[in-house]
Formats: sequence, C-alpha cells, structure tokens
Amino acid sequence: MCVCIANNDEMMKIIRISIFLWCVLCAVSGKSQDFDAYFEDNTLRVDYIFAGTAEKQQLYVDELSASKGWYGRRHRLAELPLVGNGQLTMCDVQTGDTIYRHSFSTLFQEWLATDEARKLPKSFENCFQVPMPKCSVTITVTLCDNRQQPMVQLTHEVNPKDVLIHWRKSRAPYRYIHQGGDPKKCIDIAILAEGYTEQDMEQFYNDCQTAAEVLFEHKPFGEMRGRLNIVAVAAPSAESGVSVPGKGVWKQTAVGSNFDTFYSPRYLTTSRLKQMNNLLSGIPYEHVIVLANTATYGGGGIFNSYTLTAAHHPLFRPVVVHEFGHSFGGLADEYYNDTQLESLYSSDTEPWEPNITTLVDFESKWKDMLPDGVDIPTPLTAQGDEVYTRVGVYEGAGYQAKGAYRPVPECRMKINEAPAFCPVCQRALRRLIEFYTE
Ligand SMILES: [Zn+2]
Repeated sequence: MCVCIANNDEMMKIIRISIFLWCVLCAVSGKSQDFDAYFEDNTLRVDYIFAGTAEKQQLYVDELSASKGWYGRRHRLAELPLVGNGQLTMCDVQTGDTIYRHSFSTLFQEWLATDEARKLPKSFENCFQVPMPKCSVTITVTLCDNRQQPMVQLTHEVNPKDVLIHWRKSRAPYRYIHQGGDPKKCIDIAILAEGYTEQDMEQFYNDCQTAAEVLFEHKPFGEMRGRLNIVAVAAPSAESGVSVPGKGVWKQTAVGSNFDTFYSPRYLTTSRLKQMNNLLSGIPYEHVIVLANTATYGGGGIFNSYTLTAAHHPLFRPVVVHEFGHSFGGLADEYYNDTQLESLYSSDTEPWEPNITTLVDFESKWKDMLPDGVDIPTPLTAQGDEVYTRVGVYEGAGYQAKGAYRPVPECRMKINEAPAFCPVCQRALRRLIEFYTE
C-alpha cells in the first residue's frame, strides 16, 4: 500500500522533508484528536474481501476509493460507542497514535455460524468509510468471535497520495426527505432504492416518506429528529422487484439483493456491498436503509453496514424500524426460540449489544434502570401495556431461551406488534445519537 516518495531528485527531497514536517506537525497537535490536524474534509472508503471457512479466515484489501466531503463524526474520533463484532483502527504512521476507530458487524461472521461454513470456503465484500487522512496511516481490521476475542486481523498502510485511490461520484439522483441540519453535524441516513425502475420512482419516494414517518414515530428518533438527515437515493434498477430464489425469481436490480440468504426464506440481504456503496459515493451518508420494491415478507439489518427491508409488505413499518435498530443502534434481537440448542452468546461473556445481557457484567447494561426488589430472572407477570415498559431481567433473548436476558417482556426488537422500543433500547439509541452529534 505504501507508495514511497524516495527519489534522488532534489525536488523530491524537498517534498519529502515538507511532508515529514507536516506529519510532525500532525503528531504534535494530534494529542487533542483534532479532526483538522489529521484529516481532510473527504471520505476514504476501504473495501475488503473477508474469506474463509468456520475454521480459518483471511482478510484482503480489495480497493481504495475516495469521495468529496466527510459526513461522519469530527470528535471522539478514537472512541467506540459500541464494540461490534469487528473493529477498524486507523493509526498515524509517524506517531503510532490511534486517530480514528470504527466498529461493525458483517454477514460473513453470521455465515461462519452456518453448516455451510464448515465445508465450503466463501468470500464476502465489506466496505468501510473513514475520514481521509492527511498523512500515511496504518489501518487494522479485526474480526472477533462470540467471546469478543480476535479471530483474524489485517494491518495495511494507506498513503493518501496513492494515485490508485479511485475517486468516485454517484450519478444516482437524490432528494432530501428530512433535513435536521448541516450534514457535517447531523447523522446522515441514506434510503436507497432497490428493485425500482425509473417508472417506479414516485412510489419509491412515497415509500421513503413512510419509512421516515414511522422512524420518527419511535422514540428517541422523533424527539431527536433535528440531529438526523434523511436523503432518498433513486438509483434505478433494470427490472422491477427483487430476487426470490426460493420461488425461482431472479431480477437485475441496483444492489443485487435476494431473499433466502443462508437458505432462510425471510432473510433479505445483498452481498454486493461495493455496488451499494458506489451508488452512494459523494452523497452525504453514514447509515443506509435499502428499500426493496416487493411485497414478500423479509429484511435484514447488519450493524454499521445496512438495513434492507421489503417496502410493500403490510409489516413494512415495524420491520424497517426493527432492522434499523440493528444496523444503526447495534441492538440485538430480543426474541428467542425454544428449540435453539446452540447458544450464539457465550455464557462467560457479556454481549456488546446494549439490550441483552448474560449477567456477566449487568452493571454495564440496565441495572440502574431496575425498580427496587425486582427478581432476576423476572417473572412474566406484567399485564396490558406494561409488557412494553416494565423493566426487569426476563430470560430468553438473542435467539436462545436460556442464559440470555432481555429488558422487557415485549419490545420492537422482539415482536412486530410492539408499539415502541423498550426503555432500555430507547436509552441506548439516545446515547448513540448523542455520541455522534455532541
Ligand atoms: Zn428493547
């Protein structure tokens, strides 16, 4: 990655000395984590291939891209609000100081838990946006297991002057459907069209309005709408609708999504993350909601990657908010299955998701929100609307009936019938919005 500027030419020496001095300057002022000291007002996108099997994984750099403007946070750059299942850490080469951190989850890690991953090596695309550094940096990407231990790691150098960094600009038309404020200060959410042809775009904009409306009907998004921007990106698809492999339906669409992910009929995802992010290059976005032009039930949400949901199923409204709870808020599913024998959450580790606990470190979760004298586990005695609000420690969460606990009997992260996020999910989302915008 590092493109050396070593050259005997005198001019190159001068350039090298001035770049070195600039880097020293970066290092001196760097302790303050000042955005302008380290970064330009542009975005660097690093694309990776994550590959392997359940037993062994490898990470590869695919391509570096750049686009005008940086729309992420400009403060608390070296902090992580949530640990995620993987992390990206950017360090200044001269000083070794950590200058930016980001966390995420991936479809690849979900796939590693499937039977297929025990016998077949597969690869998955992943794209991460970081602010464009002024000087050379190292970027380390780490994927963690369910005990939050590193499984695989890659460190590579990036020289921001590298001529092979591909400058991109999306040609997709876009329109703001909600403007809370300056994109450089607000959280920028892009809603992207999937399976809508040119002729379907009025429908798409209507669907975006519905998505924004239902998001704002949920606390804390409604009361914090001044900190959010929502932009609708009308990338046309060649065909109307999306692929439903289980029914033999394949379509040519903007982000190449399909149902039946991991052979699960309702799981709607895309593995074409480069294609998706290319459609958004240069448009102010940090979080992505892809609306699929279909009435088939399904969706998916991956933390700091994307939400994808069917826009024309009657349950569109609760599902899009639920999935955004995953992709934006890093919230876990609060539902479980009595027949789930294998635990996805390890009993000796506190999950990083804010709305479930294994009681290993309950202090770090919602212990301070428990009313006095509540039994753990809390019996299901709440009646009526109290099932949505009575905070306790209810056994059964994160797909497992035993050993994982949820904050209320019923929440948006558990069932579509719940009218709201539970108080614990609401607080977690509020804290995250404050982290990004204060
Ligand atoms: Zn909840």
